[in-house]
Amino acid sequence: MILPKATRLNPEQVAEVTAIVGEFGCSIQPIIGAVRTIYAIVGDERDELMINRLEGLPYVDRIDRIQSPFKLMDRRSDLSSHRITIGGVTLGEELLVIAGQCTIDPKNPGYYLETAAAVKEAGAHVLRGGVWKPRTNPYAFQGDAKSIETLMEASRQTGLPVNTEVMDEQQLELALGAGVQMIQVGARNALNYSLLRAIGRAVAKADTVVLLKRSLHMGALNEFISAAEYIVSFGNPNVILCPRGTAPALDGYRNHPDESITPLLKEKTWAPVVVDPSHSVGKASYVPACALAAVTYGADGLCIEAHVSPSHGIGDDPKQALSPSALADTIAQAKQIWALRRSVAGGA
Ligand code: PEP
Ligand code: MN
Repeated sequence: MILPKATRLNPEQVAEVTAIVGEFGCSIQPIIGAVRTIYAIVGDERDELMINRLEGLPYVDRIDRIQSPFKLMDRRSDLSSHRITIGGVTLGEELLVIAGQCTIDPKNPGYYLETAAAVKEAGAHVLRGGVWKPRTNPYAFQGDAKSIETLMEASRQTGLPVNTEVMDEQQLELALGAGVQMIQVGARNALNYSLLRAIGRAVAKADTVVLLKRSLHMGALNEFISAAEYIVSFGNPNVILCPRGTAPALDGYRNHPDESITPLLKEKTWAPVVVDPSHSVGKASYVPACALAAVTYGADGLCIEAHVSPSHGIGDDPKQALSPSALADTIAQAKQIWALRRSVAGGA
């Protein structure tokens, strides 16, 4: 929809916009109002170049897009009835809980195996464990590929699927080769389109689920959903959206908590939403409230950092991991909110 700066376009301007949209197989239909005329673009109006050319015209105020920019992730797409199942949970039918350490300590793999058993006991369905870590400080511990063995051992011992982050194609290949069932795209890479493409291509034939974190620098929700579209466009629709807090941080929290975008995402896309309260608020004592808020907002699941002994953890664990008992309490309360939400009319 073209909204002119003046109350209507003059005949030369109509001819110019008609010629531009014509190059992209579209036509113009004026909608004449009492005080203002606007111009509908009839046809497929998703072409970025066409929109840019129209937006560049000095007499155009703005272009409002009616069509969704994403073909597959849109709530009205053919994929809208697709359901993702992992760890025995079909998203949308039961609250999914992903839990485990931020980082697997290669010097103390025993902690990870203990944590895995403890989070299973607390009610988690998927184990999380960082093998490779995106760290701001280049001198901080960056992870260790050999922890993939610890991760898979924990999966074997507990019978739970595992989630780990990959930051490049080599790590992706190692993780998929080892049998990781859920690949995490971290907040720093959610805007790395070549990695998103590589992941989409690699998981296309497998049943692998992708947990796509929201970037710290994503504003518009379409940006988040379009990142998922990159992955799904290769043929595997198993992508879960994971709000995890954005920049700028809310004073006192690690990031700006963004669980409240859940209903907005659900209006636009069919993709399940699993909120990560740990990176959002960044401190163990704040995590339960954020987790419960996320479920209230309609989240389909939670991704929570937990450690059998947080003070002995590395990475984020000493500050933001829940103990197994705090995790069990949070899961129990989250399930109550889930049930309450389900019982109220129209609850999603
Ligand atoms: C993590 O899950 O440990 C992590 C680094 O996440 P994010 O990409 O959200 O910061
Ligand atoms: Mn972490």
